[in-house]
Amino acid sequence: MQIDYQKLLAHIRDGVYFTDSDRRIVYWNKGAERITGYSAEEVVGRCCRDNILVHVDENGLSLCKGHCPMAATIADAQPREASVFLHHKQGHRVPVQVRAIALNDEQGRVAGAAEFFNDTSSQETLQARIQELENLALLDSLTQLPNRHHIEPELVSRFHEIQRLQVSFGFLFMDIDHFKRFNDTYGHDVGDEVLRVVARTLKASMRPFDLVGRWGGEEFVCILRNVQAPLLLPIANRIRALIEASSVKAGNRMLGVTVSIGATLATAEDSLETLIKRADRLMYTSKANGRNQVTLG
Ligand code: GH3
Ligand code: MG
Ligand code: MG
Repeated sequence: MQIDYQKLLAHIRDGVYFTDSDRRIVYWNKGAERITGYSAEEVVGRCCRDNILVHVDENGLSLCKGHCPMAATIADAQPREASVFLHHKQGHRVPVQVRAIALNDEQGRVAGAAEFFNDTSSQETLQARIQELENLALLDSLTQLPNRHHIEPELVSRFHEIQRLQVSFGFLFMDIDHFKRFNDTYGHDVGDEVLRVVARTLKASMRPFDLVGRWGGEEFVCILRNVQAPLLLPIANRIRALIEASSVKAGNRMLGVTVSIGATLATAEDSLETLIKRADRLMYTSKANGRNQVTLG
């Protein structure tokens, strides 16, 4: 395998730049552009001392005036690490961890240095970390849909909205028909794939401000905002039909899948419990009446 290191360097998230022995920047990757706001065009050919980067330490003292880790590394060829604050193009300071290593020429002499830096403590990274943790707790790992821990507070917010703004919302409770058969006939993996296919179809059929989640097992719910009574049945039926039109691959067979749905409008008198109970009962009516149908109530 031929590895294209240039391409690799260009695409890693960390900032990477190289300088020659005069600390003139000769390379500046995409990560460095993202973290500093400076494009390669703006900095390549410039000198570190040209006041572009002007790293400072945590006391705000300029590293260019004495304690530059890169200058020290160029001088003694020893790698260094430091926590510094770099200068973002927009003017603010970004905390980064920098690592400098010496670059040698063919004769083994120090010809410059490479500096790696990451923005682990930046707002963006923190946000991504928080999101990651939230996803772990609030997203169902099999279907990547919000789980019950996410759906319940969402329902509470919608109830507050009913009180404040007198806008109702539609609620669908759905259960996959004869789901056990998929597991029993084709195995658990196919059962899991059925859940993923249903989840993808549901996700694709939602408007951006609606919420679809996995309630548990083979049960899904939808919260449909700003829906009036006459629209609820056609929406629920459209979703039911889209799932009926989906298929699941099991070996070289394509299997059909259907759901039974209970559909209802939330009212100001409802609680979380009464809403879910009603929708669940309506769903069972759909089962009793032959499955693959919507019961409105
Ligand atoms: P009905 O049409 O009456 O809903 O029949 P059903 O077979 O869908 O209903 P039942 O409640 O008997 O079966 C649900 C099954 O779902 C039982 C359980 O083993 C299975 N199940 C629950 N969670 C998962 C999962 O994450 N993956 C898989 N493969 N199966 C699951
Ligand atoms: Mg069930
Ligand atoms: Mg079922």
